[in-house]
Amino acid sequence: MQNSTLYPTVYVLGNGQLGRMLRYAGAPLDIDVRPLAFDAAPFELPADSVITAEIERWEATPLTDMLAGHPHFVNRPVFGRLADRLTQKALLDELALPTSPWCLLESPQQWPQVFARIGEKLVVKRRTGGYDGRGQWIVSRENQADIDSELFNQVIAEQFIPFDYEVSLVGARFKNGETRFYPLTHNLQQNGILRYSVADTSSPQHSRLQQQAEHMLASIMHKLDYIGVMAMECFVIGERLLINELAPRVHNSGHWTQLGCAISQFELHLRALLDLPTPALETAMPSVMVNLIGTPHNAAWLNTPFCQLHWYGKAVRPGRKVGHLNLAHPDKKVIIAQLEKLRGELPQDYQSGLDWAIEKLQ
Ligand code: ATP
Ligand code: MG
Repeated sequence: MQNSTLYPTVYVLGNGQLGRMLRYAGAPLDIDVRPLAFDAAPFELPADSVITAEIERWEATPLTDMLAGHPHFVNRPVFGRLADRLTQKALLDELALPTSPWCLLESPQQWPQVFARIGEKLVVKRRTGGYDGRGQWIVSRENQADIDSELFNQVIAEQFIPFDYEVSLVGARFKNGETRFYPLTHNLQQNGILRYSVADTSSPQHSRLQQQAEHMLASIMHKLDYIGVMAMECFVIGERLLINELAPRVHNSGHWTQLGCAISQFELHLRALLDLPTPALETAMPSVMVNLIGTPHNAAWLNTPFCQLHWYGKAVRPGRKVGHLNLAHPDKKVIIAQLEKLRGELPQDYQSGLDWAIEKLQ
């Protein structure tokens, strides 16, 4: 007689919205996905369990120590390596992949050399723990004193890139080395936080950039012997891609795949972890994702055709990601009409991004 459960339980380190969406994605396939809070009590893991994470860095607690030391923690060594911008940038250099020139900031005496070698305008970034633009400073010779002495050795300096626009690639690698990729997503960041994503493959540059990006992310995943979904954020300058950063997990810029693809990035991650048969990801429809940031819930959003609301159930605070809206339709005009409808239901700080998304779709 066949056992009633087909797959091992997948435990997720971290129980934020990404863990929650991994759990939803597992449900139709009857994959039991259990996100775990860092402060949950340690417990006896079933022998065949699979462990993954929704975040690249975590505090040491009895539970995280137990999970991180477990032999079934997939990609365990990758997390620390990518969570530190220094080792992440060093990996890109080692693979000779294009990224903005950078160095470790070690002491104030280094400033003249950094401006001369890296650039006159810099982005100084915390090596670990920064997110949504936090832990970043734009620095030139005039304001170098803004970088407090205790930040030295904790930050890298990279060249400020006057890019044309930003894209990201979300893809996955399977155990046998096969890869799958979604189409490149165009991202609008405002004040360091993702506001909108647009996935549309009809731009004249699309196929060349897609090819470049797939080649880059594939070489990173192969080098790391990685299994699961990884995201790569890039700057586009003319016909060229520069890698901004990598995330060894499902990513905010891939949320549109929940509606625009038959297999979402969350399901793709589970499929790769469990080594399930997976077709090429060719089913994408033009899609838009609107991040809901610090905005109270509005029931009117629900009354939008071809639109899906994800509300994370978190307390609403300024600058906090509290949900997102996905819109997808084969006819881009239909998406534009729904974005125009949502215009009246979203606050002022969404308006310029709506203009951007509509322009991208035209
Ligand atoms: P995330 O929310 O993606 O985790 P983060 O806080 O980790 O963001 P980055 O992705 O490094 O940080 O930077 C956030 C945004 O700041 C980028 O998407 C880009 O818009 C801008 N930015 C970062 N680095 C540079 C750079 N070198 N030149 C110009 N703009 C930059
Ligand atoms: Mg980023």
